[in-house]
Amino acid sequence: MLNCQQVTRLYSESQERALTLQERMSLKVHVMMCSGCRNFGKQMHTLRHIAHTYAKRPDQRRDQSDE
Ligand SMILES: [Zn+2]
Repeated sequence: MLNCQQVTRLYSESQERALTLQERMSLKVHVMMCSGCRNFGKQMHTLRHIAHTYAKRPDQRRDQSDE
């Protein structure tokens, strides 16, 4: 059984590599019982979606002010 720290780590690792079936199952079971990690997962999904959208539109990204 994963704890919350392991779950958040798996979430961030899932951005860089494919999780194993076992990892995904453990994550799913934890998230079903833990609202904190469920919310974290949703936020992660949203952030990922935003990042993906930006990556697909490099032209619009350039329009934003430079740091
Ligand atoms: Zn948790």
